[in-house]
Amino acid sequence: MRQIEASTITQTVEKLCIDANYFLGQDVIDALERSLKTEEFCIGQRIIRDILENARIAREELAPLCQDTGFTVVFVELGQEVEIVDGNLKEAITKGVSQGYTKGYLRASIVKDPLKRINTKDNTPPFIHIDAIQGKQLKLTIMCKGSGCENMSRHIMLTPAQGRKEIVDFVVETVVRGGGRPCPPLIVGVGLGGTFEYSAYMAKKSLLRPVSSHHPEPHIKELEEELFEKVNNTGLGPQAWGGRATALAVHVETCPTHIASLPVAVNIECHSHRVKTVTL
Ligand code: SF4
Repeated sequence: MRQIEASTITQTVEKLCIDANYFLGQDVIDALERSLKTEEFCIGQRIIRDILENARIAREELAPLCQDTGFTVVFVELGQEVEIVDGNLKEAITKGVSQGYTKGYLRASIVKDPLKRINTKDNTPPFIHIDAIQGKQLKLTIMCKGSGCENMSRHIMLTPAQGRKEIVDFVVETVVRGGGRPCPPLIVGVGLGGTFEYSAYMAKKSLLRPVSSHHPEPHIKELEEELFEKVNNTGLGPQAWGGRATALAVHVETCPTHIASLPVAVNIECHSHRVKTVTL
């Protein structure tokens, strides 16, 4: 067994939270620059330039990319030959989020109870997904996700008879209904298949892929390209001021499902796409 100390996990998560909020990924910057070339409206071009300038200021002055520093989702791939010592995994991750949001001067945005609405003051708890994998490695991926875009996400249980057209219509309708509230240009994550809850998990997990990467299955890649084209033909554009650059990418993930089911989840992500990964 390979031993990893809980304190190492805490320090790693602390740094990931700060880095995710200060440094926009190069894949997002590249996608924004590509969208600038295809955006036809001058207001849209101006907004994309402002987003790129905002990312430069955040990077150089070590400031958060957005005032909504998000809730923290942690995707864990835990090798079966890894033993966590001197603590437990979930507590170590939670402590790392608390330290990261406190030391990084990041806004605490979590309330302890959905009805009582009392702030926990350190952005905990994070929302943790753990996958058991082969090997001796521990991979930690942090997503700091704003609520403006999360709130525009939707889910539907289609029937198999409905199929591809209804999937496309639902995704496009979801983007149009969101308007400017999720801060386009967006990254649209789609989960197809599985169960009610698993499709939502896949939609979120699809956002971890490098922006604009495609699904390896040709028919899913084709669906991603069709959705990307249709979303960008809605005319919403950056911040819904009109234009072509409504989305930077559409990512679709799929998995097996029941013969009578076709779950579809759409997880909307804004341009402030804060994802960082470390493998220990
Ligand atoms: S949707 Fe994204 S860019 Fe808009 S306020 Fe929320 S975190 Fe910031």
